[in-house]
Amino acid sequence: MAKLLLHVCCAPCSGAIIEALDKEGVKPVVFFSNSNIVPREEYDLRLAECKRYCSKFGITVVEDDYDHAAWREAVKGFEHEPERGERCLRCFRYRLERAAKYAAQHGLDTLTTSLASSRWKDLEQVDAAGGFACGLFPGVRWWGNNWRKGGLQQRRSEIIKEQNFYNQTFCGCEFSKLK
Ligand code: SF4
Repeated sequence: MAKLLLHVCCAPCSGAIIEALDKEGVKPVVFFSNSNIVPREEYDLRLAECKRYCSKFGITVVEDDYDHAAWREAVKGFEHEPERGERCLRCFRYRLERAAKYAAQHGLDTLTTSLASSRWKDLEQVDAAGGFACGLFPGVRWWGNNWRKGGLQQRRSEIIKEQNFYNQTFCGCEFSKLK
């Protein structure tokens, strides 16, 4: 069986995925790598919700270093692109590269992400970023699954209500708040 690293962006996006994997007997390593999120209080809140949910499945969340300045460097020059534009592609790449690196360093051979579960995200961008990231670490395979299919989109909404998740109103970075 694959040794899976699940990159999670937040509890609402990852709830149905974790439940579906659990039903299949798969216990992934959950990796919270989201230096895009500001302010820090918002980051802490999203992380706490992920930990709360994962604890129900006996899963410990691995937290990546939080470095918003490094993330800003990664999207430099593209700050004012619209959502689903070049800034978002670079944001996905930044986070998934870090996830792929962690997987490679810890003997995990497959990477997927909850980023693909939100209808606000461009699936092709997520897939391209994941493929790019895993291409840098040959022992890690990209699993570009569409986590909206198979009833998971509906289950996502149900779990948000059941768990009374904090449900954020913006994607995460300062530019996603400028509406
Ligand atoms: S809008 Fe979301 S995906 Fe796009 S750069 Fe900001 S945090 Fe990243």
